[in-house]
Amino acid sequence: MVVEIVQDTCTGCGECLPFCTVGAISLGEGAAKVDADLCVECRLCVRFSVCPTGSIRATEIEEHDPRSVRRISDPTMVKATGLPGRGTEEVKTNDVTGRVGLGQVGFCVELGRPGVSASLADLEKVTTALSRLGVKFQRDNPMMTLLSDPERGLVRDEVKGERVLSTLVEFVAPVDMIEPVLGALKKAAGEVDTVFSVGLITRVDGDGRIPVTGTLEELGIPVRPNSKVNLGLGRPLFEEREV
Ligand code: SF4
Ligand code: SF4
Repeated sequence: MVVEIVQDTCTGCGECLPFCTVGAISLGEGAAKVDADLCVECRLCVRFSVCPTGSIRATEIEEHDPRSVRRISDPTMVKATGLPGRGTEEVKTNDVTGRVGLGQVGFCVELGRPGVSASLADLEKVTTALSRLGVKFQRDNPMMTLLSDPERGLVRDEVKGERVLSTLVEFVAPVDMIEPVLGALKKAAGEVDTVFSVGLITRVDGDGRIPVTGTLEELGIPVRPNSKVNLGLGRPLFEEREV
């Protein structure tokens, strides 16, 4: 999809500007225009019908066009990646799927944010840094469709110039990988031109304590625990065991 503004009918009123989360719309001489490189095709400006003259147009593009991966930013869009959303559901429902076992920690790195966005070249800086530590990325995550070589964390050459609103890198690792993983992410943070947040997912131990808290405090990282319990969504698919 390509979002454009019809120059002949746009009055330059500027009403569409605040709707663009990444500042891709600007006012030119008498009319507004969309910077195609910055636009992540979230379609907010189209969906809210903000333009009084109907000048904002979204045009479909071929599915195999590298630009189609920008639609990963649209949570309703599954065509570009074959998977809905930007990450897996499991990241929020570990109590059902048991993806993260005892002695393990799940990592969820969200690269980019609404209002910021991220380039896929920057995604590769993060995924290659993690791959060097032997990290195995979570399958069934839309981000995986952007990689040509998941073992080395390489992004497909044809999409490396594309941008997305945000993308989620997920993986599970033994607890003793916390320090090297956070060290690699801290280094990568200085090399990318966007922001990212890092979430850690763990099981509480038998007495209700969060097992990674001590490690994070030793690293000088403040902990802000957050939990989500899903009731009645299904039976656990996992067997409780040490790994
Ligand atoms: S589709 Fe989204 S990113 Fe593109 S111009 Fe509209 S609001 Fe901005
Ligand atoms: S809201 Fe419509 S008419 Fe106004 S600047 Fe945007 S595109 Fe042009």
